[in-house]
Amino acid sequence: SGEAVLVTGGAGYIGSHACKVLAQAGYVPVTYDSLITGWREAVRFGPFEEGCLSDRARLDEVFASHKPIAVMHFAALSQVGEAMAEPGKYWRGNVCASLTLIEATIAAGVRDFVFSSTCATYGDQDGVLLDEDCAQNPLNAYGASKRAIEDMLADFAASDGLNSVIFRYFNVAGADPDAEVGEFHRPETHLIPLILDAIDGKRDALTIHGSDYPTPDGTCVRDYVHVMDLVEAHLQGLNWLRAGHGPRDGGSERFCLGTGKGFSVREVVAAAGSVTNRPVPMQEGPRRGGDAVRLVSGSEKAGRVLGWTPARSTMPQMIQDAWRWHQTGGYDA
Ligand code: UDP
Repeated sequence: SGEAVLVTGGAGYIGSHACKVLAQAGYVPVTYDSLITGWREAVRFGPFEEGCLSDRARLDEVFASHKPIAVMHFAALSQVGEAMAEPGKYWRGNVCASLTLIEATIAAGVRDFVFSSTCATYGDQDGVLLDEDCAQNPLNAYGASKRAIEDMLADFAASDGLNSVIFRYFNVAGADPDAEVGEFHRPETHLIPLILDAIDGKRDALTIHGSDYPTPDGTCVRDYVHVMDLVEAHLQGLNWLRAGHGPRDGGSERFCLGTGKGFSVREVVAAAGSVTNRPVPMQEGPRRGGDAVRLVSGSEKAGRVLGWTPARSTMPQMIQDAWRWHQTGGYDA
């Protein structure tokens, strides 16, 4: 069988989709997940190893038994609201834990590392189309923790020859079109799954978090990327590193994964209503702390260097695939 790739967070939303494309490409995705926010049922395309990122002995054991050729590091805490209330959880759970993983990776002799970063590292930037060279001024501990891990990867590139590809995600949406895996958080805080829950009466009306932002309709604008496009970029990034086109003997390359097009909260709500052909119960509420006004990026560099195109990332397609998955009922919570 194929070469193993250690996938931290493989039982989570994006990690589970990454495992599917890795398996389809002939790799053996080895999921390493604590199941604190992940789901055992989401691990369907390769072996599962339960463990915490901060457990160095457990990580060493998993590296020794599977001998992965690379690491894809998805595991993280990722909620802006929670990060505002409990920053320590983010510094410990994202930054300290990633340090342990990076040290274990290097000790195991693995030098290729693909990391999930975020547009939340940018903060507010005055309506510009973001790219890899924009300054990073995060507005919350989530973004700050991801920026710190990016910096850490650069330091270990210099000291130990770690090669990394860093993807700054914009808003990830949609699901596997076969609905084998999908987005499922408990509690759910993300816009599209909350809209779908409101549509089919699984929860109360959607609350719009702030309608007095300086945008055309007063609600925040985000760039939504289909999860299958996103994980395709990871496969391309991995193959690029493996083929020796990326940094060699230490370096990190950063790529923004956006579509160049922004949708306001109200526009996403309207699109969900029209794709599902159902009314969306909603109400307006106060702003949520830590939210940037507008986060939109192109993907010129990812296209030019990796050949990436966000082909499936149209709003109707993302909602359609999320809706199909939603109707399966998700995992056993
Ligand atoms: N949002 C909202 N109501 C909700 C959840 C989210 O208005 O119940 C807004 C949120 O303020 C942000 C956008 O939807 O502007 C996307 O939020 P999400 O939590 O999905 O992703 P984030 O942008 O925080 O990564």
